[in-house]
Amino acid sequence: MPDPRIRPLEIGPTEDESALRIRWGDEHVSIYRPRYLRLHCPCAGCVEEMTGRRLLNPDTVPADVYPLAIHYVGRYALLFQWSDGHATGIYSYELLRSICPCGECGSAG
Ligand SMILES: [Zn+2]
Ligand SMILES: [Zn+2]
Repeated sequence: MPDPRIRPLEIGPTEDESALRIRWGDEHVSIYRPRYLRLHCPCAGCVEEMTGRRLLNPDTVPADVYPLAIHYVGRYALLFQWSDGHATGIYSYELLRSICPCGECGSAG
């Protein structure tokens, strides 16, 4: 059995469609602003693989960046096609859960 904390039950936009909402197997709900997700892109162009150092300069990411499309990658991850042309980051559910910006999880990452 996969850990319910990293098993999404529901993935979709929030009611006002301004953010992505994930409801997890343990009933925790995460709300992600698009730019927040874009800044946490885990691809080799945005994060140095060996050190985990962030290479992406936040100033280069438009304030109104949004996903043109969201693709499922197997059963473990999502891939966002961003409006700024970036589409190489594979966001595992484990990563998404670990960067949950809610007050409860907030400071963890
Ligand atoms: Zn990236
Ligand atoms: Zn949370």
